Amino acid sequence: METRPATMKKVHIKSFGCQMNVYDGQRMADILSEQGYEETATPEGADLILLNTCHIRDRAVQKVYTELGKLRDLKVAQKANGQHTKIVVAGCVAQAEGAEIQRRQPAVDLVVGPQAYHRLPALLAEAASRRTVDTDLPIDDKFGHLPPPTPKAIRQRGISAFVTVQEGCDKFCAFCVVPYTRGAEFSRPVAQIMTEIERLAASGVQDVTLIGQNVNAYHGEGPGGAVWGLARLMQRVAEVPGIGRIRYTTSHPRDMADDLIAAHRDLPQLMPFLHLPVQAGSDRILAAMNRKHTADEYRRLIERIRAARPDIALSSDFIVGFPGESDSDFEDTLRLVDEVGFASSYSFKYSPRPGTPAADLGEQVVPAVMSERLLRLQERIEHHRQAFNHAMVGRTVEVLLERVGRHPGQLAGKTPYLQAVQIETESNQIGDRVQVVIERAGSNSLFGRKAGPDEVPSKELAA
Ligand code: SAM
Ligand code: SF4
Repeated sequence: METRPATMKKVHIKSFGCQMNVYDGQRMADILSEQGYEETATPEGADLILLNTCHIRDRAVQKVYTELGKLRDLKVAQKANGQHTKIVVAGCVAQAEGAEIQRRQPAVDLVVGPQAYHRLPALLAEAASRRTVDTDLPIDDKFGHLPPPTPKAIRQRGISAFVTVQEGCDKFCAFCVVPYTRGAEFSRPVAQIMTEIERLAASGVQDVTLIGQNVNAYHGEGPGGAVWGLARLMQRVAEVPGIGRIRYTTSHPRDMADDLIAAHRDLPQLMPFLHLPVQAGSDRILAAMNRKHTADEYRRLIERIRAARPDIALSSDFIVGFPGESDSDFEDTLRLVDEVGFASSYSFKYSPRPGTPAADLGEQVVPAVMSERLLRLQERIEHHRQAFNHAMVGRTVEVLLERVGRHPGQLAGKTPYLQAVQIETESNQIGDRVQVVIERAGSNSLFGRKAGPDEVPSKELAA
């Protein structure tokens, strides 16, 4: 039987949705570790179970309620064995639905929104005697109250890390709940971000992704009160010893400032990969979505980015079946996909979200049409993804080795273009950056071998 200190409690954290939630989940683990909780990979046996939820589409919300039903049964079973289990719902469903969650699932002890989780210890104490909800939106500098991760926790999480630099969104795309669940745009001060990244690097992190709902709108307070944009912040991050790779996500096309585009040319640590969602290829639909740019403006922006960094790999998000989308609007989206040749993309059926302007629009597209369009779009996206991956075969690229591979003797890592690679190697270890000759492209990974001394890195990889 497992032995653990009598004071050590177990917490199971399950995050749904975006990278912001992955980051928030880790920060909640850091707070709870100060309260004597250690993380456990499964809900069984946990004293505290925390669901860090996503509200972006209806399916994501339904998943949460399904999961809560299972957790209620577990809570009852554990109680029969003398263990009292607390269930916490955090994240964007908590923010959007608040006390409604406890009405639908009375087994939930605490509901805490994404801007209130730094108050978890006090809220848990309160929830010991009564069911509690905290969905205050104003950010009373949540980040200033979060304990830093311990060196041990950083090492356990690996050599790649997400760092939230910006939260919330002021864009109000007609379909999107983010401005309501995460609140107004907020940028963390430069000094606070740098302290966090220096700490990560000191414990072995080499690869950081700066994240935010609208990360390229970053405008944080720099030294002397000056306002720094994302490009300047990344130049500073690149100076941190040990940080070899930098990325950022998610960006809005309207916030691709000139200096940010130039950073893709000038900053060697900035990886040649950019997630720049366009959502649709029809100007009529882009206007109805309140994206505030046209398809041609997006095309011209891509041209400028490619002029700065010709080998950049691009990815996007797409929504099919936005209200009023005709066959010809959808064809415009397919055309844009073919013209840009994205290295990868996410695509979704439009999901009406309560409280968003698009939910009240007429002309909702029928589900069968949405399904058929999604299938066609995904075929095109997959075609381009495979083409991009197959174009790598025979090239030599730098791979940062991040973890053990699927089979003994294999290590797994990423190319600068965010492609997963498996290599056979006896002589390398996690954290090494090695030149790899790509020999084969599988459906989800590339496979390669370590390059010999004469096999020089390939340039200009884009198709
Ligand atoms: N801030 C990013 C941007 O401007 O594109 C993305 C934020 S959102 C978390 C991620 C993606 O979810 C969006 O890019 C969009 O494609 C998708 N999404 C958001 N709301 C949606 C909805 N109501 N229905 C379907 N997909 C949605
Ligand atoms: Fe949502 Fe992104 Fe639009 Fe903001 S910019 S409203 S996060 S889709």
